[in-house]
Amino acid sequence: MSTAAAAAAAQSWCFATVTPRSRATVVASLASPSPSSSSSSSSNSSNLPAPFRPRLIRNTPVFAAPVAPAAMDAAVDRLKDGFAKFKTEFYDKKPELFEPLKAGQAPKYMVFSCADSRVCPSVTMGLEPGEAFTVRNIANMVPAYCKIKHAGVGSAIEYAVCALKVELIVVIGHSRCGGIKALLSLKDGAPDSFHFVEDWVRTGFPAKKKVQTEHASLPFDDQCAILEKEAVNQSLENLKTYPFVKEGIANGTLKLVGGHYDFVSGNLDLWEP
Ligand SMILES: [Zn+2]
Repeated sequence: MSTAAAAAAAQSWCFATVTPRSRATVVASLASPSPSSSSSSSSNSSNLPAPFRPRLIRNTPVFAAPVAPAAMDAAVDRLKDGFAKFKTEFYDKKPELFEPLKAGQAPKYMVFSCADSRVCPSVTMGLEPGEAFTVRNIANMVPAYCKIKHAGVGSAIEYAVCALKVELIVVIGHSRCGGIKALLSLKDGAPDSFHFVEDWVRTGFPAKKKVQTEHASLPFDDQCAILEKEAVNQSLENLKTYPFVKEGIANGTLKLVGGHYDFVSGNLDLWEP
């Protein structure tokens, strides 16, 4: 079989093995703000208005259609243009900011933020280069201390606290978080559709159970809004399971702060646990 034929066969096989309903449910919950729909209604992506239609993201190497080379080039050029603007309008004009950073970093903040493209913490909180040591992941979650899992998160916390001596760790959630929606949508015992996503968002399982118990009568979207903040609270508690974090808090050298950015209303809430 030729390479092209093999690729076509593989693509055909992949399309044949995708189960549209189960995939679409999770994809919709991850990618769509879907302001008024519940998880069940979001399973039919074709009914969603165009701006909210989920992208074709699946856990198999299947994509809707190859991107035209010209469009791909334009996307890369967008990055080059963006950097050129940053260079001339920011980097070159602020040597007092960038010169010291050549020698090293001494950020005051460590920030956990969602990977969502709408909630970059440097933009929303006006943080400049060198100010925040940042970890971004789905639903801005901090797992509890564990030496055999989540070393990426653990090493970042350890380096921020023990080497960089950050003063504040801020965990900031946000409105219409697809990861939180996915967490609340998970059915007990149901098989996972993604390789990693469901397992990751289960980090917030205790917060989910708390919200479902205390707010059982509320609609799904309202529970999501509450869970966005409860998951932050759980992450703040999880942070205290790291011995160096616990020690920093006890010594008064480290403070934890929770936050929630609502990009619908344009508000930011910050609180101390
Ligand atoms: Zn999010």
